[in-house]
Amino acid sequence: MIAKLSQLFVRTLREDPADAEVPSHRWLVRAGYIRRAAPGVYSWLPLGLKVLEKVERIIREEMNAIGAQEVRFPALLPREPYEATGRWTDYGDNLFRVVDRKGTDMLLGPTHEEMFTLMVKDLYKSYKDLPLSLYQIQTKYRDEARPRAGLLRGREFIMKDSYSFDVDDAGLEASYQLHRTAYTRIFERLGLEFVIVSAMAGAMGGSRSEEFLAVAANGEDTFVRSPGGYTANVEAVRVAAPAELPIDNAPAMAVVETPDAGSIEAVVEILNRDFPERTWTGADTLKNVLFMVTEPDGTKRPLAVGLPGDREVDAKRLEAALEPAVAEVFGEEDFKKFPDLVVGFMSPVSIDGTRVLGKESSTKIEYLVDPRIVTGTHWVTGANVKDQHLSGVTMGRDFTADGILDVADVRQGDPAPDGSGPLALARGIEMGHIFQLGRKYAEALGLKVLDENGKLVTVTMGSYGVGVSRAVAAVAEATSDDKGLSWPVSLAPYQVHVIATGKDVEVFVEAQRIAEELDARGLDVLLDDRKASPGVKFADSEIMGMPIIVVVGRGLADGVVELRTRATGDKREVPVSGIVTEVVALAAAGGQQA
Ligand code: ATP
Ligand code: MG
Repeated sequence: MIAKLSQLFVRTLREDPADAEVPSHRWLVRAGYIRRAAPGVYSWLPLGLKVLEKVERIIREEMNAIGAQEVRFPALLPREPYEATGRWTDYGDNLFRVVDRKGTDMLLGPTHEEMFTLMVKDLYKSYKDLPLSLYQIQTKYRDEARPRAGLLRGREFIMKDSYSFDVDDAGLEASYQLHRTAYTRIFERLGLEFVIVSAMAGAMGGSRSEEFLAVAANGEDTFVRSPGGYTANVEAVRVAAPAELPIDNAPAMAVVETPDAGSIEAVVEILNRDFPERTWTGADTLKNVLFMVTEPDGTKRPLAVGLPGDREVDAKRLEAALEPAVAEVFGEEDFKKFPDLVVGFMSPVSIDGTRVLGKESSTKIEYLVDPRIVTGTHWVTGANVKDQHLSGVTMGRDFTADGILDVADVRQGDPAPDGSGPLALARGIEMGHIFQLGRKYAEALGLKVLDENGKLVTVTMGSYGVGVSRAVAAVAEATSDDKGLSWPVSLAPYQVHVIATGKDVEVFVEAQRIAEELDARGLDVLLDDRKASPGVKFADSEIMGMPIIVVVGRGLADGVVELRTRATGDKREVPVSGIVTEVVALAAAGGQQA
């Protein structure tokens, strides 16, 4: 098909949108692909919609290829199923809640596990009906705390979500692997450089889960990889616990005078000054950080986290570990409620050996420690007395913890948990997430089928999501340059952009003819037939980003036109007689000039 720029509903902008943080957002708005309707809510214009449709087509093809069937659920949903699974509460402020005229609570779906589970429960009764995979490409609503970067994190966005239903664990594993394969094909076809990483299941519940991250400097996610092939979202890194040490070998607890040393650095300085027989570092100290945790229902509880003093609590790892609860660092008011705690000199134990942190202690504050703090390890930590610390404070002898919380920051060079070498950190955009949900939703909503022996068994489920609108932005993020968008042939709204320059009528006639011939050869063509200067037309073609550009102008008198490749900037003259064949070949080669 041919679209004429003189008629296409588009205006390119000379200025960046005020809120543009990343290239994809800037260029999609400036090139007239999308427009903001409200914070985190976007309208699609003709050019954007065509890219979106091409992304959707790839996803549909690959989902159909694994035997998943397309359905479509509403976005406006009843409260009850989400109440039954606890997510009406767990989603907290992220959920868009609406009330109808009768005062009935409803919601705008953030994801549809509940609805799919109930639909299958309604219609299927037997193991013979399974396995089953259903999917939809549909609009989701989440009142994100930080909508940002245009389509990358919207409050309304398009997701492909699918759900698998199996009678047993082996079936679930097979359905999961099929989705993993489909996702790999989808992201390959989108041309994204991506990694598959272990992920946290989060509010979704369930066991195994992996994310597909597009490698991108502007990505919100941090992931790690090792030379030996370990990959994980930084949130999901589980630090390997060292071997326990014999408590008998641990030194006795001793008081260290640390006047005004309320920070790890100050304590380390004093240790090196007063005990120079060895070198002390932050890693020899035990740091205790207090948080106030708020559950989705509003109840609050204090939480103490113990970790090696050279590490910080990583906010994202903590958030992921506590989800759906949220944590904030203790403030002055919080400390006032616990007069037993001495700020700057906090400790799981005090000089006389009484416990200070932990459920069994005087404060009753739950105390969770980093996995590196194992039985027999000894630390320098606060004495819970102003200006004093304790050395030789030994885990399992002088203090214990209520459990483990693996939320310390992960650093470049840290050992991979599986021993596969030092970790490297990089950033990515989460494009897809696959979960083995197990029986959580089926149990909560009573989805059971009769097995081979006529016994009722609970169905096991998987849930799988792709950010469809986010994918449009992620591809733009990966392919745009300092002049504008630059689409691969497979996703471009039009593969070819034919530009007529000058005022010569013949030029316009010839440009039109070339466009028609390309159209006849099955290509989508954008024809710039406007009465505008060549400079304006060239700049627009660079912003809009069609991969192949044909310039018809002055050269026509000598029988030549110019063929340009947007991504590389290559230009060369081609005889008019051969241009259509050249363009068709170039498009078939994915826009790569030979
Ligand atoms: P994130 O960690 O980025 O918030 P999520 O873990 O909440 O993502 P899922 O619930 O697994 O995401 O949703 C499936 C997919 O939907 C994600 O992998 C992502 O590609 C996309 N997605 C999630 N939230 C948004 C959003 N606010 N805007 C655009 N796409 C989103
Ligand atoms: Mg999210």
